Amino acid sequence: MKAVVKHSNQPGDLSVKNIPLKDRSKDEVLVKINMASICGSDLHMYAGHSGYDWITYPLVLGHEMTGEVEDAEDASLIGRCVVINPYIPCGKCEHCLDGRENQCDNGQFFSKKVAPASLNYGFRENGGMAEYIVVPNENIMLLPEKVPNEVAAISEALAVGLTAIEKVKDVQGKSFVVFGPGPIGLGIASLLKGLGAGKIIMIGIPGDEKRLETAEQVGVDETVISDEALTDQLLQLSNGYDVIFDCSGHHSVPNQAVKLLKKGGELVLVGISTQEFQLQMDQIVRGEISVYGSYGITRSTFNRVLEYATDSAFPFNQLISKVYSFEDAKEAFDFAQNQANGKVILQF
Ligand SMILES: [Zn+2]
Ligand SMILES: [Zn+2]
Repeated sequence: MKAVVKHSNQPGDLSVKNIPLKDRSKDEVLVKINMASICGSDLHMYAGHSGYDWITYPLVLGHEMTGEVEDAEDASLIGRCVVINPYIPCGKCEHCLDGRENQCDNGQFFSKKVAPASLNYGFRENGGMAEYIVVPNENIMLLPEKVPNEVAAISEALAVGLTAIEKVKDVQGKSFVVFGPGPIGLGIASLLKGLGAGKIIMIGIPGDEKRLETAEQVGVDETVISDEALTDQLLQLSNGYDVIFDCSGHHSVPNQAVKLLKKGGELVLVGISTQEFQLQMDQIVRGEISVYGSYGITRSTFNRVLEYATDSAFPFNQLISKVYSFEDAKEAFDFAQNQANGKVILQF
């Protein structure tokens, strides 16, 4: 079968290659991939960025994929449209038992937190940017009817957004600022819209203009290009905010966010940086501000996104930027890297 292979950690060392398909055991299903979408982490691996030294190459990329079951022990599954959960959690640790498979390190503890041991397809094992994939039965999730392939292909990324949103107390009628109009930030905006947020403001930096246009199509109330006057400008639009999501990964955001939050406000960090940031301690204490980190997805947030995808209140179809044939994967990766407005998808 043909697959999109990153051959080494060298920047751009990616091509479409013929590789053998592994045999299916009786606890596994064979899925013919229809579409796989490109994630920020795929782009980091493509570019050979640091922070991915836990990846061994060559590797078939892709952890956001949808397809049709072609072979399974349970004949009723054959022909069903599915998405694939990229996690293989241990199922036994305290995190798994609490439904937080995205925190599963197979029962180990690390002072220095790394990507969970459970994060498998497209990271620790060949992923879904291929004509076929064989995965355990538990890793397929049946797609509800009416969910278009493109939306199915981006549903894992949307679940990253929902996992972050579910960290906060309440959405309905509340005011939100989202920093970073990349695919995750845009996904969060579309989820907030569908969940009945009161006000959503999306912040970008110069160069993000097209992404902010997409944010407007998603239905955010205001888009703002960040400059020195950002805090004042945002406080003119609202007397403080209930919740702020950082999807930019810029270490300057948390400090800015604390100034913008109401007392009792919540800051959720989704973007990743290895830089330290500083917060003035009394501001967190006197403001009763909560700061959360959010990483990856759980089976339950993934399921809920698939449910939401059948509801027209959630403008997920606005998030698709461009669909490429997988044969043009390199072109697609270059386009995605170059500030695509939304998700870039490979079709198989
Ligand atoms: Zn991803
Ligand atoms: Zn576990």
